[in-house]
Amino acid sequence: MSSESSAAPAASSVSASGDTIFGRILRGEIPCDAVYSDELCLAFRDVAPQAPVHVLVIPREPIAQLAEATPEHQALLGHLLLVAAQVAQQEGLSSWRTVINSGAEAGQTVFHLHVHVLGGRPLAWPPG
Ligand code: AMP
Repeated sequence: MSSESSAAPAASSVSASGDTIFGRILRGEIPCDAVYSDELCLAFRDVAPQAPVHVLVIPREPIAQLAEATPEHQALLGHLLLVAAQVAQQEGLSSWRTVINSGAEAGQTVFHLHVHVLGGRPLAWPPG
């Protein structure tokens, strides 16, 4: 049975230290269902999947959102996309969507940069 869910998770606020739930996952303080890990990033299944495959790829460096990335992050950002493609193929997908929400009005709820990898069902366009 699919674990697909339409329920939006509660917004994850950023703590006073700037930490987020993804920081806690990276430090091993809370569990995740990891599908890929290397020295620069971690990929794990979204807790509220919006498609049969829904994986998040996050940098180990806590960049809050894409809007805060700088030219120094160029190689890291490219790496995240290459890992996203690798994970999608590892999951058996031949078509998939990558999404980066940057900012609350764009739907960002966790302020630690992440690439969504979604697939396993037809995906409508434009997104809502
Ligand atoms: P966004 O709305 O683009 O900021 O995406 C944040 C994503 O993080 C959402 O799809 C959530 O379902 C997901 N999420 C929040 N907490 C967790 C968690 N503990 N483990 C896995 N995914 C999570």
